[in-house]
Amino acid sequence: MAKAKARCRTRWPLRRPRILPFAVVAAAATVLALALFVLQLPLPAPVDFFSHSFSHDRSRSRSHHPYFSRPPYVPAARLEPASDICLKPTPFPFPISNIPLAASHPLTMALAAETTRVVSLFDFSDADVNAHVQEFLRQMSEGLKRDGTSISQIPTYVTGVPDGTEKGLYLAVDLGGTNFRVCSVMLNGDTTFNLTYNKVAIPKDLMVAKTSRELFAFLAKQIELFLREHHADHFESSTRRRHTASTPQGYRDEHIFRLGFTFSFPVKQLGINKGKLIRWTKGFDIPDAIGKDVCALLQAEIDRLRLPVKVAALVNDTVGTLMARSYTSTGKHRSILGGIFGTGTNGAYIEKTKNITKPIEGQYDTTTGEMVVNTEWGSFDNQLNVLPSTPWDRALDGSSVNPGIQMFEKRVSGMFLGEIVRLAVLDMMKNDEVSLFKDIDSSFNDWRTTTNISSESGVLRAWGLDSAILSVAASDNSPELSTLRQELENNLHVYNPSLEDAQSFKAVANAVVRRAARLSAVAIGAVALQSGKLDDPEEEVLDIGVDGSLVEHYPFFRDMIYEALVAVDGIGPEGAKKIRIGIAKDGSGVGAALIALVAQRMEKPGDFLADLRGDIKRSLDAMQANNAIDEPSMSTTALVVGGLIGVAAIAAIWYNRQR
Ligand code: ADP
Ligand code: MG
Repeated sequence: MAKAKARCRTRWPLRRPRILPFAVVAAAATVLALALFVLQLPLPAPVDFFSHSFSHDRSRSRSHHPYFSRPPYVPAARLEPASDICLKPTPFPFPISNIPLAASHPLTMALAAETTRVVSLFDFSDADVNAHVQEFLRQMSEGLKRDGTSISQIPTYVTGVPDGTEKGLYLAVDLGGTNFRVCSVMLNGDTTFNLTYNKVAIPKDLMVAKTSRELFAFLAKQIELFLREHHADHFESSTRRRHTASTPQGYRDEHIFRLGFTFSFPVKQLGINKGKLIRWTKGFDIPDAIGKDVCALLQAEIDRLRLPVKVAALVNDTVGTLMARSYTSTGKHRSILGGIFGTGTNGAYIEKTKNITKPIEGQYDTTTGEMVVNTEWGSFDNQLNVLPSTPWDRALDGSSVNPGIQMFEKRVSGMFLGEIVRLAVLDMMKNDEVSLFKDIDSSFNDWRTTTNISSESGVLRAWGLDSAILSVAASDNSPELSTLRQELENNLHVYNPSLEDAQSFKAVANAVVRRAARLSAVAIGAVALQSGKLDDPEEEVLDIGVDGSLVEHYPFFRDMIYEALVAVDGIGPEGAKKIRIGIAKDGSGVGAALIALVAQRMEKPGDFLADLRGDIKRSLDAMQANNAIDEPSMSTTALVVGGLIGVAAIAAIWYNRQR
């Protein structure tokens, strides 16, 4: 449509205007208009393909004209009652009492009925909530016993949560599913922090890049840009020092930034800054990264750019959220769960170490008797023992990059909700018995214009409907749904949608998100029950930190969660009152900084030798890789000399330490 319009505009002035045909057409139109006016017939709606926006003003300016004097929301047609025509169709199934009843028309009736049917397929009753909580607890417990279960229950080696007194300046990066954020965090030690950040959308082609290097090189470049922009002095001096320093102390300069790497994909964690990617989710698919240490992949690209940055900690965004919430929440109540409801969904909670009966490799602090566990609950019930499946859930799964996996996430999180709505709406549009986004008769549209949908509309394209519009639908409670209709135009290129179209869209969107919120309550409720703290009179509050655009921006998402929690056996109204769900603002950044701090504290004095050795090896590898890819090859002699100097340096340090 946009292209067509552009073409039109560029060609038009090139033609020489011919006045006569225009004059004839204008005269004919005037006569026709006068005739219609005298006969009081409705004007034919203009076929207005290039009209990309409507506004209140248009209807208001019409309303003073005698022909458009009726209020815009009163049905345009005054049909005589007939057996197949209903003047008062059933109101659409959402409780907005001030919305006037839809205009009369058999197809509008059919739209109302079809909307009710589609909405009912997303019903998720209190009994469903309870059945799901039981199954969730069962699958959680299975995950604590062995590997390879649907809820992975990955031990994170984090055995305590912060108390707000932590201090220092750290870097944090967050590879979510949609955005890459780079930030520096100054922890002030009094539960407050200062955060500076840059955010960039991850280019779609990098999500399915041929090699992981392409993605990680992009991430390292963003870190460089951030340092140059926000920490220029520090960056220049550190880079200079690093280039000239030949001693390990040079490398262990306090000006090397410790970086917490929030990586929100399933990882088998092997240490505080080491973890192998288990599988991609959220539409990513770069096969060569599977099984590799993602910290090493990032560090290699950081080193290639010679940045003064050490990847000190690998953090799952859920763990970061839990940490951040604990750091910032005041009072004696520490948080028990960090939950993400953004592109994807996942949660990390504090578990008693004795309940983790599967082997935990490596060393960890046993004194607290607790460990943070990353549930990877996006994969809850991949086997579909209980999860609801509409035809559109099945269609979405079939067209995803990972069919049969992340089945809970595919019903709950931002990346998928828009697509479920799109698939449902598309099926309704294809149904000839139903008038959705169709110009059956424009006189039934209170805006009195032609409804049409551009061939470039996101509704017609897989993954073309961003979940953000679902929030617009939910928050527009005006009688004419004008904000939503504007958004349908601007965002989805559905031009001049009728009130009934918007009502139907809103009802389907609400139903899909409501089911998602109630499923979210299943996960939160199960963890609250698992904590065993609901019945503990000592615990007045069970604090839960959440993050992600869906929970943050969708109106009343948390209220819908609470409503479902009340219905859970073992929680009820009293338990729900005890559960405090709060947004962990900037959770992933602050959380990653906190874990980088923990990692720094864990660095032992002798570690510098390993660091140095690793650093030299990385530099040599980077040089070799650079030579192989970018530059003419370096002489072997230079490499041998470089290597020998490195070995000599290690030997000298080792000798000194022995003495
Ligand atoms: P990330 O997962 O990369 O950390 P976010 O937490 O911002 O990023 O989540 C992005 C996801 O949230 C996208 O799938 C997007 O469609 C969805 N989203 C963004 N804004 C809204 C909104 N206002 N309402 C509902 N979903 C939203
Ligand atoms: Mg996130």
